[in-house]
Amino acid sequence: MHPFTYARAADTREALDAGRRGGRYIAGGTTLVDLMRETVERPETLVDISVLPLREITVTKSGGLRIGALVSMAEAAAHRGVRALYPVISQALELSASAQLRNMATIGGNIMQRTRCTYFRDVTADCNKREPGSGCAAREGFNRSHAILGTSDQCVATHPSDLAVALAALDATVHLRGPDGERTLPFADFLLKPGSTPNREQDLRRGELITDVEIPAHPRPLKSGYLKVRDRQSYEFALTSAAVALHIRGGVIREAKVAAGGVGTVPWKLPAVERALIGERPSGRLWAEAAGHAADGARPLTHNGFKAELLKRTVERQLSTVGGTI
Ligand code: SF4
Repeated sequence: MHPFTYARAADTREALDAGRRGGRYIAGGTTLVDLMRETVERPETLVDISVLPLREITVTKSGGLRIGALVSMAEAAAHRGVRALYPVISQALELSASAQLRNMATIGGNIMQRTRCTYFRDVTADCNKREPGSGCAAREGFNRSHAILGTSDQCVATHPSDLAVALAALDATVHLRGPDGERTLPFADFLLKPGSTPNREQDLRRGELITDVEIPAHPRPLKSGYLKVRDRQSYEFALTSAAVALHIRGGVIREAKVAAGGVGTVPWKLPAVERALIGERPSGRLWAEAAGHAADGARPLTHNGFKAELLKRTVERQLSTVGGTI
């Protein structure tokens, strides 16, 4: 591990001052400390923000949710309002990591976590995300777990967060505070596809902090859930996953929110699937037809071609689980 200095910010102003000077924010530390041990990350200054007042979960008057960036994954998953309004969020969190990690890791840190591409974590391998311009060992290497959607010639790594898939499905927004004021971004714009700059993963300006994420109110009743397919049933990242939320009234699907994980360089919204559902009556045939669009545009690599079919089946099964049939 490279030498670094550590400071604990007493309040938001202190944190932002340190961030403006180039300090790296740390709270749960469950990703960053691992990467520092492996010398993948080499920050000169860590700014501990764990005492900032960002630990509230608020159910808004309209029926949406605001979750503070420093709420732990475990707290968010267990929160009565989260479970009642958006079970897809609770399920995505509970299917992530281990109980110990969920107690430590925060919501802000979860969506900031970095890829699990093994070449990214191996400092002897070529990796454009870690060392821009060095190449991408995964393209010609073992790429079974890599992305089939949103890739570029520069990088094919998946985004690892389950929570982010649920947030993308629900059209969440991210609230930021920085040295120059506050900003709010659609979650879909916050995480960046690799393009020609895979080292740049979020639309964050120097010194900006995530303060909370907001899930807008959706029409009620809203049924939702998360399905994660992986090589083993715990403490493993997704090969494919599906976050689904459906508003069904009068036997007709009025609103459909669907996103996939484990397949994209960012959480992957599935608008073609959503369009195929809206205005239709739930049925086994509908789920299969809609899910048939899930892998539209996929560009498989040498070892991950199976993900296209697995994704369709994952989405079909989760549509059936959430929507049932009439
Ligand atoms: Fe690096 Fe991305 Fe290639 Fe993995 S896929 S080696 S993270 S550039």
